[in-house]
Amino acid sequence: MPQLLVDQRDVKFILYEQLQVQKLCEHPRFSEYSQDMFDMVIEQARKLAENEFYPANRIGDREGVKFEDGEVKVPECYHKPYRLYCEGGWLSISDPIEVGGQGFPFIIGNAAIEFFSAANWSLMMYPGLTHGAARLLEKYGTPEQQELYMYKLFSGEWGGTMCLTEPNAGTDVGALTTKAIRRPDGNFNIVGQKIFISSGAHNLTENIVHMVLARIEGAPKGTKGISIFIVPRLRYAEDGSLVDNDVVCTNVEEKLGIHGSATCGLSFGDNDNCIGYLLGEENRGMRIMFDMMNEARHFVGMQGLALGSAAYLHALNYAKERLQGVHFTQLKNPEAPRVPIIEHPDVRRMLMFMKSTIEGIRALLYYAAYCMDRAAIAESEEERDKFQGYVDILIPVCKAYGSDMGFRVCEMAIQVYGGYGYCVDCPVEQHLRDCKIASIYEGTNGIQALDLVGRK
Ligand SMILES: Cc1cc2nc3c(=O)[nH]c(=O)nc-3n(C[C@H](O)[C@H](O)[C@H](O)COP(=O)(O)OP(=O)(O)OC[C@H]3O[C@@H](n4cnc5c(N)ncnc54)[C@H](O)[C@@H]3O)c2cc1C
Repeated sequence: MPQLLVDQRDVKFILYEQLQVQKLCEHPRFSEYSQDMFDMVIEQARKLAENEFYPANRIGDREGVKFEDGEVKVPECYHKPYRLYCEGGWLSISDPIEVGGQGFPFIIGNAAIEFFSAANWSLMMYPGLTHGAARLLEKYGTPEQQELYMYKLFSGEWGGTMCLTEPNAGTDVGALTTKAIRRPDGNFNIVGQKIFISSGAHNLTENIVHMVLARIEGAPKGTKGISIFIVPRLRYAEDGSLVDNDVVCTNVEEKLGIHGSATCGLSFGDNDNCIGYLLGEENRGMRIMFDMMNEARHFVGMQGLALGSAAYLHALNYAKERLQGVHFTQLKNPEAPRVPIIEHPDVRRMLMFMKSTIEGIRALLYYAAYCMDRAAIAESEEERDKFQGYVDILIPVCKAYGSDMGFRVCEMAIQVYGGYGYCVDCPVEQHLRDCKIASIYEGTNGIQALDLVGRK
């Protein structure tokens, strides 16, 4: 297969020549790793992405998610790559060994994610959300909560979600109305409706652990009164068996793109039998969620990069093969041979724009990932503050620039393909559709601008 997903030379240039990530191995945290091991990870990610994720991309797009008799089914072709992804430990490639992870630097996991995301973004949504939920438990869960849920999430045995959005609480999360009612046993009954929940219901895993924002009765209005709860679809009964926890999928959205990703309406506690377990302290839900925001927003910037990268490389490959017209120096020569469209200056202009944009986004996102590693292993508070400061200011740019410009690259890829690009048999129209959502979820790009200028 020609290189159609990610430019490996550029990835290695950024990792080893620009950022010199091999020097991370000099730090005690990464002393057991080496550049050879980093290369091996990237090579294995490429193979799994090309051989298993990519073939399921278009089929999954056509087949979509099915919602029948209350059951949500992902495209059949997702099951095998998802299983291989989990078995290979990819879900926790950059998480500590103690939680079942492989302990690689975040930036190396990030490079692997670029390959998987370029091959099949819809499929990547499932482990992506699961990882976010696992990280919340790692940081804020009690030892018991970690034992019950975290390890199963880091391994991918169970799925995870983030449940913020409600019909009248989108950008304005503080307007949410989902209630948490105290129970005598110290836990809470959860009652409310969430919409647009990615991976909210599906048949990839036996159980799904929802991270739900809700307001405890009597808590202050707005974001200050929001708490976060662990709400499993199946909860543990006293005898340790798993029983239904009164979480129902009410609908699955029909969307412009990411057809293989289940975007669900969820109803909690229709029968007053949905138990939520408080994560962290009461009324700290937004703070806790924000803590995970950097990684989540970086991941969405990666969506723009990865889909733009795949669209660019497909267009480049096509431009080398498609014969049309004559070389511009031969316009008046009726005998002139047809040339590949890459010979035409306007097509070259488009390809150069796409290449430089993608390489720029990649440099930006990888640098932000590198700063996360440097902040995590900093040996002084000053050093930590410096790198964390870079992360904080770069994240809204990574998210908004990555998604906006990634989308423009996808649009230009269609232009390079001409009429074929507009037709469903051509891969780049899916890239464009799958990319659009990146500027909307995880805080719209307008909100990223407010974050950058107002908060940072
Ligand atoms: C496919 C998909 C998957 C999703 N996955 C999840 C998920 O897993 N979990 C989850 O909780 N949610 C999820 N969402 C919801 C998503 O995060 C919201 O759609 C998004 O936050 C925007 O909210 P909204 O749709 O209500 O738009 P609105 O908040 O109504 O915004 C509409 C427009 O107004 C602008 N706007 C709103 N308020 C302001 C303001 N104060 N200042 C400036 N501009 C403003 C916005 O930028 C936007 O352009 C998903 C949505 C989709 C479509």
